[in-house]
Amino acid sequence: MKRLLEEIINECSHYTKLGRVASYIPELQKANPDNFGICVIDKSGEYLAGDYDKPFTVQSIIKPLILLLALMDNGIERVKLLCGVEATGKPFDAFNYSDLALTSEHINPMINAGAIALCTLIRGETHTEKFERLLSLARTLSGNPSLSVNQEVYLSEKETGYKNRALAYMLKAYKMIDCDVDELLDVYFKACSVEVSCRDLARIAFVLANHGRLPDADRLLIPAEYARTVNAVMAICGMYDGSGEFALNVGIPAKSGVGGGIMASVPSRMGIGAFSPALDPKGNSLAGVKALELLSSKIGLSIF
Ligand code: GLU
Repeated sequence: MKRLLEEIINECSHYTKLGRVASYIPELQKANPDNFGICVIDKSGEYLAGDYDKPFTVQSIIKPLILLLALMDNGIERVKLLCGVEATGKPFDAFNYSDLALTSEHINPMINAGAIALCTLIRGETHTEKFERLLSLARTLSGNPSLSVNQEVYLSEKETGYKNRALAYMLKAYKMIDCDVDELLDVYFKACSVEVSCRDLARIAFVLANHGRLPDADRLLIPAEYARTVNAVMAICGMYDGSGEFALNVGIPAKSGVGGGIMASVPSRMGIGAFSPALDPKGNSLAGVKALELLSSKIGLSIF
């Protein structure tokens, strides 16, 4: 497997030159577009290649964990009252609704409006406590107690997150949320700014793939039912408005982020973390997607 991953990194590395690093959050523009790494974890071990340990901010890949915690704190019925699960076919930050209504049917947990709404369902007396509980879940699932917020990216997002502010106020205007928007967005901006590596993503993905359990322990970390729910939602809408193509060409539940990461879960089989910050026009890591396409075709990963 390690040799295969190294071959894939070699074969796909030219794609790092064809994408563009995200620039709408100024701090993300500093990423090195040449970085390219991958990590696969299955029951036989952990396989690493390229820049597998380079840190980058998780960005939208925190959305599956926001969904997971909202489910664990409230159950599926409450979550679905607030947020639907249908693919929107629109970009992650789109205002995907008419001005006549905004309801749960217009949003899903993998787009910004849905994830921001779901942050209100995370239990906690204060917004700080909500974020701390989310961070603690990310640390537990990744087995990495030192995961923390990249302060520069967090402040950069907070300063320039006009669209997210607009989305949150739309949610409030349509009475889908009822809290202080700035405090709520602080949870979301911090959550997006948590720094991870491919290895962290692969470990989280493995737990999702392995019905809630770690590879090296038989302890149940999250309910199997919710691992399945998160995988299903990622499969439907985890790769922005490129989710359909990704389902055809790779065929596994995955979530990408504009930091260049992709977390992919192969149910009952493996967790994968890939990273390359140069993005395609839809916001997915270009080399990361190509690497997953190649890996999937070489070892038959598609669940379809
Ligand atoms: N923090 C980013 C935003 O909300 C996340 C976007 C993404 O990775 O898709 O704009």
